[in-house]
Amino acid sequence: AEALVRWQHPERGTVLPAEFIPLAEDSGLILRLGRWVLETACAQLAAWAADPQRAHLSIAVNVSARQFRHEDFVAEVLDVLARSGANPARLELELTESSLVIDVDKVAAKMDALKARGVGFALDDFGTGYSSLAYLKRLPLEQLKIDRSFVRDILIDPNDAAIARMIIVLAENLGLDVVAEGVESEEQRVFLAQQGCRTYQGNLFSRPLPVAEFETFLANARCS
Ligand code: MN
Repeated sequence: AEALVRWQHPERGTVLPAEFIPLAEDSGLILRLGRWVLETACAQLAAWAADPQRAHLSIAVNVSARQFRHEDFVAEVLDVLARSGANPARLELELTESSLVIDVDKVAAKMDALKARGVGFALDDFGTGYSSLAYLKRLPLEQLKIDRSFVRDILIDPNDAAIARMIIVLAENLGLDVVAEGVESEEQRVFLAQQGCRTYQGNLFSRPLPVAEFETFLANARCS
């Protein structure tokens, strides 16, 4: 599962992250918000660990560049893990390429420290940033996520199809898992499968769900 944050506003209803995350980044509130998301995800992991039907689930948490660059980032993640009792191996942190453009040694040291405890890393929205191939081999990544902007027109735009295919081959050759984001139709899924991508996210499977509905969704999927 990937943790996605929504703001339930008393007057405006549900506010989507595209609207409030940039504001949180600019104001610095992203640090507290990011910590809250991490705490909430780790508490959920700890709860699932006690349930045999759900103990195998892992949660991916999006980390903003500003949060990752903070000097206390590693200590904070370890602190949240320890307090919650969550298994670090069930936590995957999603970084974007913009988190990695600073000193690659510093980035690698932070990632290595967390990976040593079992935390996994994915590179989110891959292909939309600097897409430096040098850091792909240097950093302890486990997964590339093909950005939804390439998946959206994959059947009609040959350039998007070529980019998606390139990312899949790249991931395969580097020994990384690859996940396609924003899969909305069976035709898109089949095309991606033909290119060698076997893991997907998107509305074809389910819209984002609150935890209780997600648990029901999984229980039903197991039965069917
Ligand atoms: Mn993500």
